[in-house]
Amino acid sequence: MIIVLLGAPGTGKGTQAQFLARRFDLEAISTGDILRQEIKNGTSLGKKAEKFVTSGGLVPDDIIIDMIRGRIDGPENRSRTRTGVIFDGFPRTLSQAKALEKMLSSLGSGIDRAIYFHMPEERIIERLSGRRVCTDCGETYHVVYNPPKEVGVCGKCGGALYQREDDKPEIIRQRLQTYNRDTAPIIDYYSKKDYYLQVDAYDDIDRIKEKITRVLGG
Ligand SMILES: [Zn+2]
Repeated sequence: MIIVLLGAPGTGKGTQAQFLARRFDLEAISTGDILRQEIKNGTSLGKKAEKFVTSGGLVPDDIIIDMIRGRIDGPENRSRTRTGVIFDGFPRTLSQAKALEKMLSSLGSGIDRAIYFHMPEERIIERLSGRRVCTDCGETYHVVYNPPKEVGVCGKCGGALYQREDDKPEIIRQRLQTYNRDTAPIIDYYSKKDYYLQVDAYDDIDRIKEKITRVLGG
């Protein structure tokens, strides 16, 4: 099963991604993590990517796509018990969306669901500015909508929670502008596909979980 989660930062899709990964035993794919690992491990793709990273440039789509392909189809991954992957935060541009689709189809595979988390902008700002992240495991919380049992402490690993610099309101507005410019064409692209699903991201977190789980046949 291959799932793509779409939506602005702050729409709760990260939380849903973690839930869905556990619920359906999916490998959650973060292109940022993959990139860092490949560079750290000094793989041939990592070396290529490093040149762009160190010069402050963007890593080209074909390198990112090859890294993802390795995760899905690499020899060390085929034997995994994972039943599929979930993309959160990728693709970010229309050309990445098209390249992903092409790569998956070359593997005889394809996207099963692209789920768009829709939410009005003012709600996004409210949500993001209340977000707290675990220093140790990366689990995310919200001071109102998804609070940890103990204030400032991760319920999963006991790590300290903090507010990201880019979750401050003035930075959020800039991020949303960039997001809308880059990803509006992706939403348009996926909305024409029969595997597209839009959810009201302002809905109750458990209701969204139920809805998506039902759609995915769980
Ligand atoms: Zn934690």
